[in-house]
Amino acid sequence: MKIAILPGDGIGTEIVAEAVKVLNVLDLQFETETALVGGAAYEAHGHPLPESTLKLAKEADAILFGAVGDWKYDKLDRPLRPEQAILGLRKNLGLFANFRPAICYEQLVGASSLKPELIAGLDILIIRELTGDIYFGQPRGRRTAVDGHFPGAEEAFDTMRYSRPEVERIAHVAFQAARKRSKRVTSVDKANVLETFQFWKDIMIEVGQQYPDVELDHMYVDNAAMQLVKAPKKFDVVVTGNMFGDILSDEAAMLTGSIGMLPSASLNSSNQGLYEPSHGSAPDIAGKGIANPLATILSAAMMLRFSLNQAEAADRIESAVQSVLAAGLRTVDIYSEGTTKVSTREMGDAVVAAMTKTTIKG
Ligand code: NAD
Repeated sequence: MKIAILPGDGIGTEIVAEAVKVLNVLDLQFETETALVGGAAYEAHGHPLPESTLKLAKEADAILFGAVGDWKYDKLDRPLRPEQAILGLRKNLGLFANFRPAICYEQLVGASSLKPELIAGLDILIIRELTGDIYFGQPRGRRTAVDGHFPGAEEAFDTMRYSRPEVERIAHVAFQAARKRSKRVTSVDKANVLETFQFWKDIMIEVGQQYPDVELDHMYVDNAAMQLVKAPKKFDVVVTGNMFGDILSDEAAMLTGSIGMLPSASLNSSNQGLYEPSHGSAPDIAGKGIANPLATILSAAMMLRFSLNQAEAADRIESAVQSVLAAGLRTVDIYSEGTTKVSTREMGDAVVAAMTKTTIKG
């Protein structure tokens, strides 16, 4: 098993270090290799996704990714910005299915901005299509960009498009995931206004006929954004396009209290995957040692389960995370009165301690 470790920028390096520490406790044979990505790679090699990093990612069975980006790169031409590294990895590795579970841990019910009764027991899965939609259309406005901006320009536009195979394969992923859960899929679209999403909806219905045991319903994205805060437990599996999924999955993340808690997996058709926290590089807290590493640690658990076929090891990490939360340890983003505030490193150490059954501090 080979794991490519791509920490990236900002808090990326801090949180990935904790996840690697946790992986190293497991009695598993795997090889890891670390490479630069994002702004760090741009600084060293003039490109956010250098050939050497892409080669390593392609050869690995799985990629553990931190986060990329910093406001200081906003002036760069778009293809050189750190975030392009993620798009490049998704495209080159064919990572089309993004799984973002939003689970509300019992101990963190109070950290949510919603009333406890609305989110206690929340367990939803947002499946976001990753390789199509407006992020990969033809951004023709780009041709006139100067330093990534449009001084004096009269218009700029991006093109939204989906192909039939792209929608079909994500539909199958959603229906199959629903079969392992409560057999309900909500497809989120904007079919009332956008042709691309009428096409999406038609294909969802077509593919759905192959899964008569799974209930399919449809919701417009504006309504879905509202329902997610009004009655989030009404959802189970939500499948949607790249842009709507980007937004709704962050909204769902916040329902659970902190974006610092939520892992994600992006898989291709051979189960090779990129695993990363749902949040970004958090430049506002980078270097302070206060970032929550749990989303990355839980992403490493997803990696073991989905790409490396090590479900038991994944369970071990997830139970350790539950026990540090039960012991009252909290990074600042999930801190509440009566709990113990810990740093990024202390949280990682506590997970390791819980896995090795030594005493947990706090
Ligand atoms: P962000 O997710 O980085 O941060 C949003 C807020 O959440 C900030 O206040 C931050 O401090 C907090 N936060 C995020 N992760 C946290 C953690 N683990 N623990 C505690 N608090 C945490 O989003 P942003 O501020 O909009 O973007 C910052 C940079 O990250 C931008 O350059 C953006 O493009 C990039 N970004 C990268 C990815 C990625 O690498 N996959 C995803 C989203 C944003």
